[in-house]
Amino acid sequence: MKAMTFVLFGATGDLAKRKIFPALFNLYVDQKLPASYAIVGVGRRTYTVAEFLRSVEQSVSDAAQRREVDSSCIHAFLSTIRYVSVDVTQKDDYLALLGQVIQCEQEWNLPQNRLFYLSVAPEFFDVIAGHIKASGLCETTGWKRLIIEKPFGRDLQSAEALNEKLCASFAEEEIYRIDHYLGKPMVRNLEAIEFANPIFQAIWNNKYIANVQITANETVGVEDRAGYYDHAGALRDMVQNHMLQLLMMIAMHLPNRINAKEIRKEKRKVMEAVRPMETEDVMRSVVRGQYGAGNLQGHSVVSYRDEPGVEADSMTDTFVALRVWIDDPLWSGVPFYIRTGKRIKEKSTKIIIEFKNPLEGSYRNQQTAPNLLILNINPEEGISLQVNQKNAAERGKLEPVTVDFSTDASQAPEAYELLLSDAIQGDSTYFAHWMEVKLAWKWVTPILEAFAQNQVPLHVYPAGSYGPQESAELLMEQGFSWWQDE
Ligand code: NAD
Repeated sequence: MKAMTFVLFGATGDLAKRKIFPALFNLYVDQKLPASYAIVGVGRRTYTVAEFLRSVEQSVSDAAQRREVDSSCIHAFLSTIRYVSVDVTQKDDYLALLGQVIQCEQEWNLPQNRLFYLSVAPEFFDVIAGHIKASGLCETTGWKRLIIEKPFGRDLQSAEALNEKLCASFAEEEIYRIDHYLGKPMVRNLEAIEFANPIFQAIWNNKYIANVQITANETVGVEDRAGYYDHAGALRDMVQNHMLQLLMMIAMHLPNRINAKEIRKEKRKVMEAVRPMETEDVMRSVVRGQYGAGNLQGHSVVSYRDEPGVEADSMTDTFVALRVWIDDPLWSGVPFYIRTGKRIKEKSTKIIIEFKNPLEGSYRNQQTAPNLLILNINPEEGISLQVNQKNAAERGKLEPVTVDFSTDASQAPEAYELLLSDAIQGDSTYFAHWMEVKLAWKWVTPILEAFAQNQVPLHVYPAGSYGPQESAELLMEQGFSWWQDE
């Protein structure tokens, strides 16, 4: 691993406190950071280094306790961190940042490998990338990389404009677009399940698979994010990025080689083959919902429109279910169902693959259940397979049983740890390539437009349910139902 300087914009923000510093600390404890490196925190506030380090110490204290490390380990980690106060909109402030980076490189004898992480509001992404270049921070004798958080644009046009601006300072291979779903251990595992197991690879096609159900449900409502969410909605917030990433991961063909270039090429091909939707298709294949008041886990909760900060007549989608077709020979005729919602009965991110059941009627007077491959992503992690067997105690009655291969999720590294470690090593496999982002925006555009023009009904569903009834009806049209909904 190459020595480097990690420059964190937004180092005093929420994401840095909750995720990035704890992830860096865990990597440090696991000796997964380069042997020599420096971290330069950038924030708007005028902190002294000591003040800043106190806040970093607080944010790594839980991780330190869990890892049972002593204070000398924490202090060794903190000793690699510096702080610079920069107003990211002010060109001249970057000279102080450049000075600090050069000082670190000299102090620790580091090569000029620079990793810039933009953990700031999206309106600053292009501004910062431009100033990084103009200030000379990009002129290195080593490598430079840019890690960028979501959201990447709010529609195709703004994403294209942003990308163009970023590309004026960084090449595509240098840009690491975070989709934190790609940091989840089970999502990374999808590729191994599909491609490292000949038994699954052999049946990963439309001859054996009846349908695929991709779910990402949350019990929480809009929380304190109404300012952002009420202008975004579930389609922008979840489907364009995370859900389509899951679709690409599950539907990609076996790459020529298992490496970043080939995997991303196969993912892109999936997005190119996803059948575009015309307005009539949107009306037929997309269900839009918004949560009403209800009862969730024993508590009454208010409707979306009654949440603080939400417009009283808001038409924002807090639930979306979609039926997607992939026009390639492997998947022709297999519906992929996607759904995501807030204030759903249970929190669950999972993919269920339902296999065709040609033997359904082969037992007299008894039906066999279809085989299911269940990939639990969050909060449980693991794989289970539903198969049929005879219950000896019930006079040989056929029953589906589940063979469980769950892993101990508490031992798995956090998404941000895996993603940061990849970016430090220059492995872009689990970051979104621009073509994936662009194709995903392009594909959701007709749906966004249909929502904006209210061409799709907004179904209010009670909080604590599985979403609007129309979501179940979407699957019934092909004779299917969402598995594991009670
Ligand atoms: P935040 O508001 O808590 O922090 C913003 C940071 O930006 C602070 O460090 C602040 O000092 C800095 N900043 C703001 N204006 C500045 C200026 N003019 N000059 C210099 N610094 C300035 O935001 P956050 O929640 O940490 O989110 C950061 C990014 O991560 C956003 O793009 C957000 O969409 C994304 N994100 C956040 C989360 C999360 O859980 N917080 C999750 C996913 C994505």
